[in-house]
Amino acid sequence: MSDLLNLTLVEARNALAAKKISSVELTTAYLKQMEAKRSLNAYVLETPEIALANAKTSDERIQKGMAAGLEGLPLGIKDLYCTKGIRTTACSKILGNFVPTYESTVTQNLWNQGAVCLGKLNMDEFAMGSTNLNSCFGGVENPWKRKSDPTKKLVPGGSSGGSSAAVAARIALAATASDTGGSIRQPAAFCGLVGIKPTYGLCSRWGMVAFASSLDQAGPLTRTVADAALMLQYMVSFDDKDATSKKAPDQNYLANLKTDVKGMRIGVPKEYIEGLSPTMRALLDKGIQWLKDAGAEIRDVSLKTTPYALPTYYIIAPAEASANLARYDGVRYGARVEGGSLDELYENTRTAGFGAEVKRRIMIGNYVLSSGYYDAYYIRAQKVRQLITDDFKTAFSDVDLLLTPTTPGAAFGMDEVPSDPIAMYLQDIYTVTVNLAGLPGISIPAGLDDDGLPLGLQLIGPALSEQRLFNAGSVIEAAAQFPFLKD
Ligand code: GLN
Repeated sequence: MSDLLNLTLVEARNALAAKKISSVELTTAYLKQMEAKRSLNAYVLETPEIALANAKTSDERIQKGMAAGLEGLPLGIKDLYCTKGIRTTACSKILGNFVPTYESTVTQNLWNQGAVCLGKLNMDEFAMGSTNLNSCFGGVENPWKRKSDPTKKLVPGGSSGGSSAAVAARIALAATASDTGGSIRQPAAFCGLVGIKPTYGLCSRWGMVAFASSLDQAGPLTRTVADAALMLQYMVSFDDKDATSKKAPDQNYLANLKTDVKGMRIGVPKEYIEGLSPTMRALLDKGIQWLKDAGAEIRDVSLKTTPYALPTYYIIAPAEASANLARYDGVRYGARVEGGSLDELYENTRTAGFGAEVKRRIMIGNYVLSSGYYDAYYIRAQKVRQLITDDFKTAFSDVDLLLTPTTPGAAFGMDEVPSDPIAMYLQDIYTVTVNLAGLPGISIPAGLDDDGLPLGLQLIGPALSEQRLFNAGSVIEAAAQFPFLKD
């Protein structure tokens, strides 16, 4: 069984196509492992009957020579993607009983390609957080352990913490995730995985529970760059149900994957180096050397608006969140707590339904959007956002990609989370700029810290440079020889 679980997505696809294994066999192995690893709390809903039915259909299609791109491959789905007839909560009490009557475009794309649904994955409530501790279903345990203290439970990152823990612990072959300010890349770094946040608009947002609509993007979490290329290829689609959907030329990321950076100019922004810990600095230096050895030219660049990115993000994201979350009123969706009047019904429902971090964001959002403060905060933040975007544009006139750390450090203990929310927001310092500018960014597992925990390096590219990111990412991947957790 462990042989099956140790296959990558691409290897499993090849083994299925060669009829060396069946999807029912593979899926059963995953379902058993999900049971064995329930204590991680990665899944908030397991769908074994659906998984086995999907797997059977896939096996029939493979037999008939009708296999589609992801035929028979068992995936986990972040509980932010609406799945028709399957409870979807965004890990909020307010959606505790919500069963969508429709399917998100991204998941529909995956099912159309024959993927198997293992279940729904834990996350921070409404994707707000960096630890997965803001989930109404409780935290998720990172399968990685500190060498010095193997009993300490570490966070898997957030908000896609269920997705990252599941793929790292081999209870999903790959998973969908979403990234508004780092929620694919930071959990990828904490769990030793590849995570890509595509160009804004490349994947449809239709049917994804909204957090901050101008920043949200779907993307995959996988063990390898090739797996990420395969997943993303089938997640992407133009969708007229999403007004911000991008019409991009068809891509075959996997077929075009080349481990090659020869002649590529890669910039290292000096603002991302300032204040780096010695461990992260050493990792970045290693990354620079690997890329140089593979024939890239490394250049120093400056992104001078970087210090303003976090405050800008933490104005825009809560502003959009407060507007998006106004729909949870106890009338149309999910939970309802009755009251003596309509206002009381709203108040009681929202008081009981939302967790502390979500309430904090709604309050910040309402504040920055309120008359009198709108110009001083929201409009100002939009202007700074434009400057951040312009900064990247200037940088990309000189270089093809940028190399940065993904996070300030490795995964921390569930009991070591800073009590000050602002300190927590610093987790996102290297990731939010990418969302503000609508650019693609990928995190590649690049090494371990002194205590044996995974660390990631991030590559950022201009809009629609996903192929370049995969190609350069695979150079880092090949050099790093990252020691994945085995079953
Ligand atoms: N950690 C960030 C936040 O809490 C990013 C979340 C995300 O990307 N969904 O807003």
